[in-house]
Amino acid sequence: MAQDAKEIFEAIIERVKVLDPVNSRSWFDSLSLRTFNGGLLEINCPDSQSAHFLQSDCINGFTLAAQQITGHLVTVKFNSENTDQKSKTAKSTGTDFRLHPDYTFDNFVVGPCNRLAHASCVAVSKALGTTYNPLFIYGTVGLGKTHLLHAVCREALNSLPNAKIQFLSCEEFVNRFISAIGQGSLPEFKSQYRTVDLLVIDDVQFLQERDQSQEEFFHTFNALYNNRSQIVLSADAAPGEIPTLPERLTSRFKCGLVARIDAPSYETRIAIVQNKARLRGMKISDEASEYIAGQVKANIREIEGALTTLYALVGNSGQEITKDFARVALGDSQTDKNITITDIIKAVTTYYDVRPADLQSKKRSQSITMPRQICMYLARSLTSHSLEEIGGHLGGRDHTTVMHACGKIAELEQSSEKIQAQLVELTKRITK
Ligand code: ADP
Ligand code: MG
Repeated sequence: MAQDAKEIFEAIIERVKVLDPVNSRSWFDSLSLRTFNGGLLEINCPDSQSAHFLQSDCINGFTLAAQQITGHLVTVKFNSENTDQKSKTAKSTGTDFRLHPDYTFDNFVVGPCNRLAHASCVAVSKALGTTYNPLFIYGTVGLGKTHLLHAVCREALNSLPNAKIQFLSCEEFVNRFISAIGQGSLPEFKSQYRTVDLLVIDDVQFLQERDQSQEEFFHTFNALYNNRSQIVLSADAAPGEIPTLPERLTSRFKCGLVARIDAPSYETRIAIVQNKARLRGMKISDEASEYIAGQVKANIREIEGALTTLYALVGNSGQEITKDFARVALGDSQTDKNITITDIIKAVTTYYDVRPADLQSKKRSQSITMPRQICMYLARSLTSHSLEEIGGHLGGRDHTTVMHACGKIAELEQSSEKIQAQLVELTKRITK
């Protein structure tokens, strides 16, 4: 085993990519080791938002990887290099929201379907309250509204580090409003949202049929608008087409710029596939990108899902994804999205000639453990079930067991041609 702390650290990062393909990104390579002693591993991150993301979404993968590489329990902590300075800024500006590190303008592919939405978001974020106010972005699910809103906040924070920003989903707004009523803290609630430079609220269709929240939102809107503070909103439909919203609200939503996002064209989808593959450090051939873009039409989230599946299969081996590989691995799974864990258990038990009850039992003989781990691995890559749900189907095992299994099979897949062939065959049978 590697003894030198830096080597251990690098091995941990490589292991994380195998254990947690969903969250792994190529920028993990730019993380650096701060300290490693006494069972505490401190990792430097480029900024406080990525540190937040790692701490909240990736901590399980890092902890397990550190444990596997070192052979003992390790506590992992993420620091941003200039944490002290950043946290002061965060305190003075009251930013308590988290921005997803992938959701930047740089990572947003612009095409005819979203050009206006993108351009207006960029304009607004560089000059709050002076261009389009409010800015209202709408489109159906999975077309990049939330991505753009994150990018607006990130860009505004970059260009105006002292700006007061609130960014939340409309559902959170409603929930916080309700709890402020319950706790008798309405004045604090009002001042929190009415005194900002930028208020960004995602999915305002959530205000439907919530009369009292609509009323509160109306007054918040007016206070900000009169103050020339920037307002950015998103919804799944145009202002006038959100059922039950009163005219006085929808007419205000319309008084700035309303930008629609449409489903992306084939060319834009290809560019998005390539962009997402680059983010994960995956090599993908042009034909494979075209194949995926042809399979996934309406919802870009499915592109992300397809790439996660492929990443789980090739890991960080550097293997180029060809069209044939993508076709076999994704099979019909993009058109027939109803693969269940039961389908997977059925295929695996038939293939290895074991009983489903054995997979769910506590038995630990190799002839049972391997098919069980393969089930977990395939469930992870072919369905969108969580680690907990997968563990639940396989005898109530916890998420770390599932994650461990996925890591082990992913490794075997790279080191053993036999296992690789079995996985390809099983994937074919399941997706048929
Ligand atoms: P919405 O909020 O409209 O439902 P999201 O913003 O959550 O959609 O986007 C879904 C996924 O698609 C995200 O992973 C996002 O990064 C990605 N996505 C959407 N549009 C684009 C784009 N133009 N370029 C790159 N990624 C995109
Ligand atoms: Mg969204």
